[in-house]
Amino acid sequence: MLDKFDREINYLRVSVTDRCNLHCSYCRPVEGVSLKGHDDILRYEEIIRIIRMSVKMGLIKVRLTGGEPLVRRGFVEFIAELNKIDGLQDISLTTNGILLEEYAEAIFQAGVRRINISLDSLNKDKFLSITNGGNLDAVLRGIARAEEVGFYPIKINTVAIKGFNDDEVLDFAQLAVAKPFQVRFIELMPVGQANHYHHKDYLPLTDIMQTISSKYILEEIRVKKNKADGPARIFKIKGGVGEIGLINPVSTHFCSTCNRLRLTADGKLRACLLKEEEIDLKSLCRKIAVMRTYRGL
Ligand code: SAM
Repeated sequence: MLDKFDREINYLRVSVTDRCNLHCSYCRPVEGVSLKGHDDILRYEEIIRIIRMSVKMGLIKVRLTGGEPLVRRGFVEFIAELNKIDGLQDISLTTNGILLEEYAEAIFQAGVRRINISLDSLNKDKFLSITNGGNLDAVLRGIARAEEVGFYPIKINTVAIKGFNDDEVLDFAQLAVAKPFQVRFIELMPVGQANHYHHKDYLPLTDIMQTISSKYILEEIRVKKNKADGPARIFKIKGGVGEIGLINPVSTHFCSTCNRLRLTADGKLRACLLKEEEIDLKSLCRKIAVMRTYRGL
């Protein structure tokens, strides 16, 4: 599937719900967001239909995200169905890890192997404050369970926020030394709540590199990328078992290599996080379903 800039589009990020059990301050407003009604959200069968059709057009990789995907009922059964789609080569998951201890094994059995776990602080109080009530221990138990069950790779996603977690960079690096995880620092993007105070909180990843390099020797890994791989730069820490990843959506424009589309929980297809344009696939799916019923198909 080539777009008009000749980019091969083969990766879809699917938000399975707009609901979340955390409330990260850079993501959602303090007063809360108005959540969609049950009927406004794509049903699992509709998501599967969209993915099945997209696979016929060249989609090979799907990442399930949200909101928080693990809070949606029937999520494990949904993954198992997705896993039956011929030609879909990779199903991965992004989660905040709060419910992972409970669901890791079932998700693994259903067919997910690659998991990203969001974790912006290793300090209990700071985690509680940025997530508005999140329990760090639950996430750490979730990560431990994911490792035990056999997920690989396990990527820890840390959004770099000036004045919040810049003092924890070496603690995160130590995690990558001790554990076979890829600890990825992600630049704060001017989207969601972060749009309002991005200039204040934005921390360029060059600062993070400098901090890590003050203690560790980093060697960049020139991985042979799969054609659906993302734009992360990956480093091995000398003497460590894990890796450090850097994702700079702000300081390095990687639009030219972007290969992904996004499907929102209410069925809108978006080509770019930073653009409002979208295509309403939910309405289309439902019109087709009505026509089929009408024609007795
Ligand atoms: N609930 C799941 C989770 O926490 O991983 C999936 C949804 S969450 C929106 C997906 C990822 O987007 C998280 O790692 C979060 O930190 C990141 N994110 C949200 N807003 C962001 C922003 N403004 N800049 C960079 N990353 C952001």
